[in-house]
Amino acid sequence: MSANIGPRGVAVPTQLWLGTRQASSNGGTFPVINPATEQMLAEVADATSADWQHALDLADAAQTEWASVPPRRKQEILYEVFTQVTERAQDFADVMTAEMGKPVAEALGEVAYGAEYFRWFAEEAVRIPGRMAAAPAGNGTILVTRDPVGPVLAITPWNFPLAMATRKIAPALAAGCPIIVKPAAETPLTMLLLGEVIANAFRKFGVPEGVVSIVTTTDAAGLSSELMSDPRLRKITFTGSTPVGRLLVKQSAEHLQRASMELGGNAPFVVAADADLDLVLGCALQAKLRNGGQACIAANRFLVDESIAEAFVERLTEHMSGFTLGDGFDEGTKLGPVITATQRDRIATLVEDALAKGATATTGGSVPEGPGYFYPATVLVNLPENSAILSEEIFGPVATVTTFKTLEEGVERANATPFGLAAYGFSENVHTAQYLAQHLKAGMVGINRGAISDPAAPFGGIKASGYGREGGTEGIEEYLSPRYIAWT
Ligand code: NAD
Repeated sequence: MSANIGPRGVAVPTQLWLGTRQASSNGGTFPVINPATEQMLAEVADATSADWQHALDLADAAQTEWASVPPRRKQEILYEVFTQVTERAQDFADVMTAEMGKPVAEALGEVAYGAEYFRWFAEEAVRIPGRMAAAPAGNGTILVTRDPVGPVLAITPWNFPLAMATRKIAPALAAGCPIIVKPAAETPLTMLLLGEVIANAFRKFGVPEGVVSIVTTTDAAGLSSELMSDPRLRKITFTGSTPVGRLLVKQSAEHLQRASMELGGNAPFVVAADADLDLVLGCALQAKLRNGGQACIAANRFLVDESIAEAFVERLTEHMSGFTLGDGFDEGTKLGPVITATQRDRIATLVEDALAKGATATTGGSVPEGPGYFYPATVLVNLPENSAILSEEIFGPVATVTTFKTLEEGVERANATPFGLAAYGFSENVHTAQYLAQHLKAGMVGINRGAISDPAAPFGGIKASGYGREGGTEGIEEYLSPRYIAWT
C-alpha cells in the first residue's frame, strides 16, 4: 500500500516496516495532515502491541548475526543507504515539505544533512577503537574492546523528520545494534520512505531480517512502556521534549537500559558591542528562522549590548518582515507553516502574554487568516522580565530582544535557564570571543556562527537539555559497551 505525496506524486509506503517486509496493523490507520493546507495527505498504519512486540522479537533474533557482520561490510551497507537517499533527495524533500511544511529548499538541505549521518557512520564502522596497556602492577595486560549494547528503541520528533532518525539509525547499525524506530505521528511518511530505501539496500547485501523496523503509531506511550519493560531492549535513544525525556529515563531504570536524551533548549544569542553587525544579522536569521524556528537549537533569546541594540533591532525587523509566509512548495515562500494548530496557538499565547505585559512587536505578532497553521516572523522588544516567552522554548519564528550593559551581565542572563543545549556568541575581539566560548553554559557553542550542526561533531546538551551525543566520533560510543579483558 502506498500514497502519492507532493506535486510529483512520490509513492510512499503507508504500512509498517517489520524488517524489510511491509505489514498492516490490526490497529487500523491514522491520518497525516499537510500543515500548509490542513488537507489529509495519507493514512498510515497505527501499530498495536502485537506489532512492536514482533519488531522486538525480530531485533533480538538479529542481534548476534548483525553484530558479527564484518565492519567493512557494515560500512558498505551504510554507504549504500547514503547513496540511495542522496539519489532520491528530491523525493525525500517533497515528502518532508508535504507533511511538515518547511520550504522545499530547506527540506533538500535536511536530506543532505540527514543522509550524511549514514556516510559519516559508514566511515566510523571501520574505526571502532580499542585499547591495550600494561597493568601498572606488572601482573598482566589490560585489553579493552567494544561490544554493541544490543537492540535499540529510537523515538523521534516531527521537526526534522529525516535527520533526527538518521543520527540514531546510522550509529546504531555501525556499532552492530538492531534498531526499532518510532517516528512522530505528525510526520511518519519520511521514515516510511526511508524504510523502503533501507529495505532495498539490505536486500542487496543480504542483511539479516529485522535489523531495522519502523513502527508508526498514535500510542507512543504504550509502545515505549511495553518495549522498555522488556529486558531484551538494551537502549533508548530519544529526541523530543524534556517532560517525555524524563519519563523515559524513569522507565529505563527498571532494566537499566542505556539512554541518550536530546531534549528541549532555550538558546541565548549574545551580541557583544564589538560584533560585526552584518555577520550577526545573517547568523541571527539562520539561528532563528531555519525550520521556522522549530529547532531545539533555535535562538530563543537575543541578548544585545545596549550600545548597538537599536541598530540590531532595526535591521532584524527589516529582514524578518521580508520572510514571506506560504506553502513550502510555492516559489517565493521563505517561511512555511508551523506543525499543528496547537503549536501555532501556543506561540500566539506566548506573544500575546508579552504584548499584554508591555512588550512591542516591531513586525508580526498576530495570526493570519487560514487555511494552514501559519505564524509570521515576529520581533519583540521592550520585554518585561516576567514575560513567559523569555523562559519557555518558543519553537516558532519569534525573536525576543533584550539588552545588557556589560558582557558579564549578558552572559549571566544567557546562562540563567534550566536548559543547556546550544548558545551563540558574537564578537570581533578575540578575547571577548574566548570569554563567550568559555562562559556560555551549553553542550554546543557557536562563536560568530549561526549554523552549528555537523554530522562530524557531537550534538547534545547539558542540564534539562539531556545527555548523550549524536554525531562525531562520540556518537557511536552511545551504542557500544566497553569490555575489559584481563590478559596474562
Ligand atoms: P514530544 O516529546 O512531544 O514528542 C517527541 C516524540 O516522543 C514523538 O515521537 C512522540 O510521539 C513521542 N512521545 C510523546 N509522548 C510520549 C510518551 N509518553 N512516551 C514515549 N514517547 C512519547 O516533542 P515534540 O513536541 O514532538 O518535539 C519538540 C521537542 O523536541 C522540543 O522540546 C525540542 O526542543 C525537542 N527537540 C530536541 C532536539 C535535540 O536534539 N535536543 C532536536 C529536535 C527537537
